[in-house]
Amino acid sequence: MADHLSGELTSVAVPKTALLACECGIEGCWPLLAAITFTEDSVVWDRFEQPFRRTRDYAGFGPFRFERERYDRALLELSEAIRDSCESHDFRDRQRPKVL
Ligand SMILES: [Zn+2]
Repeated sequence: MADHLSGELTSVAVPKTALLACECGIEGCWPLLAAITFTEDSVVWDRFEQPFRRTRDYAGFGPFRFERERYDRALLELSEAIRDSCESHDFRDRQRPKVL
């Protein structure tokens, strides 16, 4: 997941990353795509797109700009939260994921 939000591309033809997906869990099923751009001190999500509804206009949505340091820290915490929940086989005692 951290690799994913570090800008791992969902498709090579379209250099964008899926930020949201359909509840069926199949990658590529109704994704919300965005370009994730890194600079030394910021991360920007922009150019949102729903590939199956090309006429939908996301011009007013974003760009969302994050401080690079906070973004990297949030991804680290997300990775740890995911790892912890995967390692816990006792779901009754499972801790709630940390709010980022
Ligand atoms: Zn689906």
